[in-house]
Amino acid sequence: MTKDFAGKVAFVTGAASGIGEAVAKQLAARGAKVVVADLKLDAAQKLVETIKSAGGEAAAVAVDVGQIDQVEKAVKFTVDTYGKLDVAVNNAGIGGDAAPLGDYTFEGWHKVIDINLNSVFYSMKYEIAEMLKIGGGAIVNMASILGSVAFPNAPAYVAAKHGVVGMTKSAALDYAKKGIRVTAVGPGFIDTPLLAAVPKEAYDGLTSLHPIGRLGKSEEVAALTLFLLSDAASNITGSYHLVDGAYTAQ
Ligand code: NAD
Repeated sequence: MTKDFAGKVAFVTGAASGIGEAVAKQLAARGAKVVVADLKLDAAQKLVETIKSAGGEAAAVAVDVGQIDQVEKAVKFTVDTYGKLDVAVNNAGIGGDAAPLGDYTFEGWHKVIDINLNSVFYSMKYEIAEMLKIGGGAIVNMASILGSVAFPNAPAYVAAKHGVVGMTKSAALDYAKKGIRVTAVGPGFIDTPLLAAVPKEAYDGLTSLHPIGRLGKSEEVAALTLFLLSDAASNITGSYHLVDGAYTAQ
């Protein structure tokens, strides 16, 4: 494995499971020092042990990305622990309730917007401040195919992910000349614990929506994410990149 992230410090939210876990593992395997930030500290610590036993370097921090003060502390923890921040993946997210807009509760709406959209603003605000201190960096925001197309019974999730794509473009423009690249990734449905609540029939239905004939894997999303974070992507910023088995090509 090429150690092209050697010397870099990475901050990954929602890193204790699914896509974030795969991103954290790949970053560590390629030489980055990784802060595994998650609501579930036990699971984050467990991943840190796994990374360390594979020869990597990582530290865990508890964070609720919907809480400004906790996000500020988690980014500060990263810099206090490893001295700086080079790359960040704002990945933590939830599925939220399934209901048409008219039946969606205010509470359900605010929860999804807080965790899937406001969190990306909070995170980028503190991450960018650190990256400016060292003259640059790279951020990937985990959106979804639902950042560009809609899905039934998911008004808050669809709105949040469209917002993440817009915020990504906006931040990329603002910091293009400061050496900070900001991109978004749009996975199709990926086989992670996020889909655990989906009943078998619906799960099979989701598979058939992907022309590739299967759901995506976390490792495939991580591979794209690492490319976007890497120096090989030096001219890529302000853009939204799909990894969706041709879902949105139809
Ligand atoms: P997952 O449920 O496997 O992992 C999400 C992680 O985020 C968990 O470890 C969870 O503890 C953490 N988390 C949840 N709320 C948090 C909070 N408030 N603060 C901090 N951490 C929190 O989910 P996943 O499928 O790996 O999803 C990761 C990201 O990818 C999400 O943003 C999701 O919207 C997006 N995504 C997922 C899919 C999919 O089909 N699985 C598709 C497109 C996009």
